Amino acid sequence: AIQTLLHCNFSTGCNLLVVTVATKETDGFRRFMRSARHFNYTIKVLGRGEPWKGGDYMTEPGGGQKVRLLKAGLQEIEEDKVVLFIDSYDVVFASGPKELLKKFQQTRHKVVFSAETLIWPDRHLEDKHPHFREGKRFLGSGGFIGYVPNLKEMVADWTGEDSDSDQLFFTKIYINPEKRKSINITLDNRCRMFHNLHGSLDEVVLKFEDGQVRARNVLYDTLPVVIHGNGPTKLQINYLSNYIPTVWTFETGCSVCLEDLRPLSGLKSDYPLVVIGIFIQQPTPFVSVFFETLLKLEYPKNRLKLFIYNQEQHHEVAVSSFLKDHGEEYQDVKVIGPEENMDRVASRNLGLDMCRQDKDCEYFFSMDIEVVLKNKDTLKILIEQNEPIIAPMITREGRLWTNFWGALSADGYYARSEDYVDIVQGRRVGVWNVPYLTKVYLVKASLLHEELSNNDLFSSGTLDLDMAFCHNARNKGVFMYVTNMHTFGRMLSTENYQMSHLHNDLWQIFENPKDWEERYIHENYTKIMRDKLIETPCPDVYWFPLFSDIGCDHIVQEMENFGQWSGGRNTDTRIQGGYENVPTIDIHMTQINYEKEWQKLLLDYIAPITETMYPGYYTKAQFDLAFVVRYKPDEQPFLRPHHDASTFTINIALNQKVLDYQGGGCRFIRYNCSVEAPRKGWALMHPGRLTHYHEGLRTTAGTRYIAVSFVDP
Ligand code: UDP
Repeated sequence: AIQTLLHCNFSTGCNLLVVTVATKETDGFRRFMRSARHFNYTIKVLGRGEPWKGGDYMTEPGGGQKVRLLKAGLQEIEEDKVVLFIDSYDVVFASGPKELLKKFQQTRHKVVFSAETLIWPDRHLEDKHPHFREGKRFLGSGGFIGYVPNLKEMVADWTGEDSDSDQLFFTKIYINPEKRKSINITLDNRCRMFHNLHGSLDEVVLKFEDGQVRARNVLYDTLPVVIHGNGPTKLQINYLSNYIPTVWTFETGCSVCLEDLRPLSGLKSDYPLVVIGIFIQQPTPFVSVFFETLLKLEYPKNRLKLFIYNQEQHHEVAVSSFLKDHGEEYQDVKVIGPEENMDRVASRNLGLDMCRQDKDCEYFFSMDIEVVLKNKDTLKILIEQNEPIIAPMITREGRLWTNFWGALSADGYYARSEDYVDIVQGRRVGVWNVPYLTKVYLVKASLLHEELSNNDLFSSGTLDLDMAFCHNARNKGVFMYVTNMHTFGRMLSTENYQMSHLHNDLWQIFENPKDWEERYIHENYTKIMRDKLIETPCPDVYWFPLFSDIGCDHIVQEMENFGQWSGGRNTDTRIQGGYENVPTIDIHMTQINYEKEWQKLLLDYIAPITETMYPGYYTKAQFDLAFVVRYKPDEQPFLRPHHDASTFTINIALNQKVLDYQGGGCRFIRYNCSVEAPRKGWALMHPGRLTHYHEGLRTTAGTRYIAVSFVDP
């Protein structure tokens, strides 16, 4: 054997064989194999397809099965090989065979075990362990390297059960001075080759260098070759292996994100069948927008089935009107309404089950109602990424809140990983293995028949339902990923959502300003501001789009729903002094409790225009009077010439001439200039006093609505 060794040059690494046990191809095993391939290790896998009887790290000591398989496996390996025997579900390589062999050779021993800080499983054996000047004193069986004859000698006496402890077996050999000497065993006590993370998490930092990432032990200043998330450090190895060895680097970004994809090309009718679970668990703004977005999702609807769980009476209308108009377009729809009184956990289990029970279902796509998916391709992108469970990263506008956690605290709650902020803010882009996902994620149906076949995944003691689901996935070794390779959308705040109005979303300008803007502000508003396309129909009168069609409709409907239109008389108890010189038939914003929101609208969307068009004038958009006026031929058809009690006035047309009414408009008498064809959603801005004496022109048919604000009275 020695002879051959000399021929096979050590520095080539050719005589190294990696041996591992993997009864199943878990996500962890695939990760291990990827890192092994990266460094060209030669791998021999033992135990494929066997049932696992070796226990798991959370219960009893176990692992005896690995010794049995190694003992048998060694018989088939040439005597001149150096064998690295390691776990694979929670192991990644940080470097290649040459470095490993070199370090092995430098130990001048024939068998080298990984070392551990903590003694396990029998702490009574502590005294029997030799002392080192520095480093870890105890043996870890999750990784060792040695010459085949020495390894054979070491396992020769194994007659244990599969469920016996491999670590205890090897420890007893190691602490026996004769055996230690004859087999020539030592420990890699300063982590030059192996790093077991359990008990040593504080010693490890990521080291980015030259397009490569390694873990560095800062206590011994070493760069281990094999990184092992033994025992309860599975999440830490998941974190480290988001980087090690070249998964994500500063130079290349993500290097594995385009591997093993499932491209969705070809016929739309061949797209995988997806069950989309939609969960309405609390009163939420913009529910109708959610369904509009769902409708626009780029995916053939006949390849989609919907599971809708709605716990809120309040949202019944939105759900049923969506289903009435579009339910038929989907392959199937199942609805659990508030009347069924189903609890949340049961609804989640049932949703998953709809996919599990359906032999054609390939994915379950879970979406909570507060998710705002701006990316129409989200579902396709997630499927193509081809991961077991994957979420699109969505954020809370202007905050660091997202739908994933980068780490878990000791008690299983949120903890911030070191890379969390970089991921959220897009400085690190990739597909990240994380311990917790919520709100929106895609699950492969194959998991539902295997690792996640338990039909009660959403309950687990005191954990809330997402935590329970993620807890179960983690315990089964199923990897969960979040991708920030694209922008996908955001999540709504459901706080401060009032339900006392007809269109409650109108009140969301503070809580969800972005969604409010997208819903209610005219699509050309920003463009017109940017390109200075504001029109001037009369001297010092400016005209620009402000509200969307829906914005106008909701305001009008809200007012009509409130219904307490004023009588149009001079006495008006709503205003200071109780006397209105030029009365209209109207409802004040204060009457529907909309004054704070209206002021915010004026401040955010009007004040910038005012200050551009009337340079040198600064406004805080104060107002006493803002109201919606209704003109009808048989009620109040026009308004006689008058000045406004304002520095400037905003007059917004809330419906469309010809379509909704005839006549109408506004005439500025001093200039003999009229705006006779108001445009729905557009605002007129003009000085209130002195120069802009004006009148409301006669509405001759239908009903005309305008929203008027006297700003800076
Ligand atoms: N293993 C296996 N099948 C199983 C469980 C474990 O083949 O069902 C192998 C695999 O190589 C794994 C090793 O046994 O890495 C040790 O198991 P685990 O990672 O759970 O133990 P720990 O490293 O935490 O002691």
